[in-house]
Amino acid sequence: MLVFKGFKDLNKHLNHVRNQDPNLIIGLVPTMGALHQGHLSLVRQCNKDCDLTICSIFVNPTQFNKQNDLTNYPKPIAQDISLLIQAQCDVLLLPDVQEVYPESYVHQTFDIKNIDNIIEGKSRVGHFQGVCNVIYRFFSEITPHKAYFGQKDFQQTVVIKKLVALVGLRVDIVVCPIVRENNGLAMSSRNIRLSRGGKQEAKCIYEALCILKKHYKKLGISNSIGLAKKHILATKGTEIDYLVVVNTSNLAIAKEQNRNEMIALVVVNFEGIRLLDNLILS
Ligand code: AMP
Repeated sequence: MLVFKGFKDLNKHLNHVRNQDPNLIIGLVPTMGALHQGHLSLVRQCNKDCDLTICSIFVNPTQFNKQNDLTNYPKPIAQDISLLIQAQCDVLLLPDVQEVYPESYVHQTFDIKNIDNIIEGKSRVGHFQGVCNVIYRFFSEITPHKAYFGQKDFQQTVVIKKLVALVGLRVDIVVCPIVRENNGLAMSSRNIRLSRGGKQEAKCIYEALCILKKHYKKLGISNSIGLAKKHILATKGTEIDYLVVVNTSNLAIAKEQNRNEMIALVVVNFEGIRLLDNLILS
């Protein structure tokens, strides 16, 4: 696996391989590191679909709205490199903040039709504009054919699709399924900060989503949300930030069943960590 710290060196390499094969399909897997099987599933999918897989590791400061969350974000880089080699990633891009946001860079505000200000964006003001800026930088510098994101951050996938349409970038956005622990807990880089017991107890989140999915047709959406919330709150120390059912296309709140595809989105604060999960209902 080749490792590049700057876009210039990466592009020199990409131009070289493109010259050898003009039809080469390049895929990008953007991450913030502390890799787990969820991230690696994106790398593997990218390997299947593309000729060259680039994984980026960059802890993007502009998408954190709490300084201590940024400072405490895990950075096990040696372990990440060995996991990427095992997953047969071709290229790792490891830029620093100066490289991604040089002094001349003007932070942009993208008009993504309010999708950035609702649900997760309401709890984390400015988060999605930070995501848009970093993804815009990566897409414009690297110009991949395809980019891979996890359904785990469902709202992020909607935001990125809107961003790509807005700025007219030609990149295919591929959304991959959520990879879970054996007990159902969605894998996340932040899970390593959970206690051993906490990791077991946090399974209540996925269980609650399954309860909601099982009952919403018979009991209606709001009653099933009530059941799901009750299930989560039965685990001591949980605090629900939000648990909503929305239409997958525009994230509009679905109060009752409708013909659109719907998804339940949840964030639970537990042991000082934000645990995010979701489940497609129909
Ligand atoms: P992050 O490093 O948290 O920014 O995540 C990088 C990418 O990995 C994002 O597209 C996430 O949605 C995706 N991802 C994170 N956790 C999982 C998971 N458990 N299953 C699938 N994809 C995931």
